[in-house]
Amino acid sequence: MNFAPTEEQALIQESARRFATTELAPIAGELEEPSARPRYLAVLKQLAELGFMGLNVSPQYGGTGAGVVAFSLAMTEISRACASTGVAMSVNNLVCEVVQSIGTEAQKERYITRVCSGEYPCGSFCLSEAGAGSDPSRMKTRAVRDGDGWVINGTKMWISSAEYAGFFVVWAVTDAAAPAGKGISCFLVDADNPGVTVGRAEHKMGQRASSTNPVSFDDCRVGADAMLGAENAGFRIAVGELTGGRIGIASLALGIGSAAIDVARRYITEREQFGQKIADFQGIQFQLADTMTELEAARLLVLNAAWMKETGQPYMKAASMAKLYCSEAANRACYTALQFMGGAGYTAEYPLERYARDARVTTIYEGTSEIQRVIIARELLKSL
Ligand SMILES: Cc1cc2nc3c(=O)[nH]c(=O)nc-3n(C[C@H](O)[C@H](O)[C@H](O)COP(=O)(O)OP(=O)(O)OC[C@H]3O[C@@H](n4cnc5c(N)ncnc54)[C@H](O)[C@@H]3O)c2cc1C
Repeated sequence: MNFAPTEEQALIQESARRFATTELAPIAGELEEPSARPRYLAVLKQLAELGFMGLNVSPQYGGTGAGVVAFSLAMTEISRACASTGVAMSVNNLVCEVVQSIGTEAQKERYITRVCSGEYPCGSFCLSEAGAGSDPSRMKTRAVRDGDGWVINGTKMWISSAEYAGFFVVWAVTDAAAPAGKGISCFLVDADNPGVTVGRAEHKMGQRASSTNPVSFDDCRVGADAMLGAENAGFRIAVGELTGGRIGIASLALGIGSAAIDVARRYITEREQFGQKIADFQGIQFQLADTMTELEAARLLVLNAAWMKETGQPYMKAASMAKLYCSEAANRACYTALQFMGGAGYTAEYPLERYARDARVTTIYEGTSEIQRVIIARELLKSL
């Protein structure tokens, strides 16, 4: 197995690194302020111009067609600078891929092109509900047939980018009599549909530049052409697409963890206590060695999952292992990096406190660490 990037992958990684270092990192802290929303949206537009909103999407629909490994490499670079930007990029690539894989030609033309061109800052993925997070098969949102179309009622929770999304990919129960997960369908709903209300943004611990909102559907009427994929096949679609999304979040987490330890590494080679550099204490060196080893293992796991997806192999177990390990390793790296920097790391003078806050949710969204373990164990036992 060869993990050296191809020429195209290396170019995309380099262009992401350049943008992240020169344009994004200097403003990432400021983007957390609510008043900075226009700047954040301008950043998302720049990502679209760079071709990062549809990296694994066909150029026919405005995507880059660069593949999953290139997507993963670019995600890590962008998230090194700003995880709030990384999460919008990850969700956009996810929703574009859902529409690409099961949408009609008209749906692809209408929605993917608008996200990839930057006309829409984002698309949103509306699966979770207040009572259906780890187990979305128990969702309560209903879509009832109405003439040729459907009427959707219900509320989705914790929806990333909902405030500035151009459209929503929404899951709703279409056959209430079917067993859990068997009667769910997927719909494309425009954000300006009069039946859609985006609620107040959550006040979050981290990734604050990215909005997270409830989205309510009140007698929200959509045409028959709004259905994405086959009727009652929605849950399978969600599970399949979330598997790909996990590669995005694993890459994002790796970016945060790597950025944290980079800052701390520089700091410990400059700061002195007890008459020597902090980096000269062997107790510190051992922790540094362990952290870098974990991050390297995380990098290999996520590249492997991306490569498996790109080469058409079953990758569910690999994606869950990558998501589990990268997100947990990123949190450990942030903890260690902050500890290396003592009081200075805890203040906003350094970006460490933001990295530590941003990393925390990576073990929660797109399937918690416990759910990744459930999936990994299920896949392992299934293959016996
Ligand atoms: C910032 C943010 C952004 C988000 N963005 C989106 C989005 O864009 N779209 C969307 O649809 N959702 C989104 N979510 C929702 C997210 O996917 C859910 O929060 C997540 O799936 C967990 O669901 P829950 O919060 O309801 O936790 P719960 O399901 O209530 O879980 C609570 C705890 O119980 C554990 N647990 C649950 N089941 C098991 C089990 N079988 N075995 C062992 N432990 C278990 C969990 O791991 C967790 O530790 C977002 C959430 C956040 C915080």
